[in-house]
Amino acid sequence: MSEYNPMAVAQSQFNMAAEILDLDEAMREFLRWPMREFSMRLPVRMDDGSVEVFQGFRVQFNDARGPTKGGIRFHPTETLDTIRALGMWMTWKCAVMDLPLGGAKGGVICNPKAMSARELEALCRAYIREVASIIGPGRDVPAPDVYTTPQMMAWMMDEYAKISGWSHLGVITGKPLSVGGSQGRGDATARGGWYTVREAARELSIDLSEATVAVQGYGNAGSYAATLGRQLFGCKVVAVSDTGGAIINEDGLDPQAVLRHKTETGSVAGFPEAEAIANGELLELDVDVLWPAALENAIDKDNAERIRAKIVAEAANGPTSLEADEILYRNGIHVIPDLLCNAGGVTVSYFEMVQNACLEQWSAECVYERLDAKMTRAYHSVLQLAKREDIDMRTAACMVAIQRVAQAVRVRGWI
Ligand code: GLU
Repeated sequence: MSEYNPMAVAQSQFNMAAEILDLDEAMREFLRWPMREFSMRLPVRMDDGSVEVFQGFRVQFNDARGPTKGGIRFHPTETLDTIRALGMWMTWKCAVMDLPLGGAKGGVICNPKAMSARELEALCRAYIREVASIIGPGRDVPAPDVYTTPQMMAWMMDEYAKISGWSHLGVITGKPLSVGGSQGRGDATARGGWYTVREAARELSIDLSEATVAVQGYGNAGSYAATLGRQLFGCKVVAVSDTGGAIINEDGLDPQAVLRHKTETGSVAGFPEAEAIANGELLELDVDVLWPAALENAIDKDNAERIRAKIVAEAANGPTSLEADEILYRNGIHVIPDLLCNAGGVTVSYFEMVQNACLEQWSAECVYERLDAKMTRAYHSVLQLAKREDIDMRTAACMVAIQRVAQAVRVRGWI
């Protein structure tokens, strides 16, 4: 594959799992593609008075198990194929967690770092105006993803309420607490990921209180992965990175001090109590746990042989290419696949939907406990299958998920 295409990767992963599951051809043909996709032009008045027209997407991949669920990304290099792949992964993610939800994903081609808060609000509202007729608490429920925030979710929820005339809190998740957000949603992706790492470490006899950690990407998932690693398990976070650069301190970084530095300067680079390393080097460090927490395709055929971490915890969606997957598996590296590792985000989103539907407010402890139970159960169901079939964790996770989705498709009488 010369040009990396996440949809081709997602479909190949699907094909592998479908083959082992011996799915019939019609089912494969149905599950290999989104059920529905939408594409829209979004004119937005910019601060200088000009109008910029943005391209947006929403892909509802599969709703056999329930309303579709998945985030909205704002990124300059967004493509429809990426959103399709992410929609497919959301479908498997919700199914592997056994949530009564299907999968979707949305995106807008834009550079949010170069936009003002007012421009971003206008773009969020324009997006919702276009998708208002196809989303809803029982239909399709968006959430934050790369470069979208709880504030943006609040604007989107508000726009939907204005259009529909009803205060449907559950139309969007990942909202601020003051407008129906859930306790524990902010760090849910990283926290859920750490619960799976805890189980993996037990399996591999790694003592997390002495473990070293490297984190690639310092957004929501990455910064919380670093902070919680230290807070929950006493891990030593030795290196972190973002698009501005990578830093290392063998004695351990203070993740919250690094975050403050990033908030002030825009990057983790230049943090005083650390040395600079190349971004690529971070991935190849000899650490116990490596968190790819940025974008797709961070670990590919060119660097996979040099990955030395014992556990790769995929906080990002699709960070490992197909070729890299094979290499990591051959080299005995325990990969906790994205579908499972980062499913804490959508799981607490699901808790948020439940709370919104019942007008309930759960405590943080209640959310953590339920999240832990769900992550631990899902991790072990995947691990068990991987061991039984002698396959990698990703293929096993896909198999658990695809089997559940195919079952729902059959029971509904679609195929
Ligand atoms: N964007 C997150 C993901 O990729 C969360 C989705 C959600 O909460 O619906 O899993």
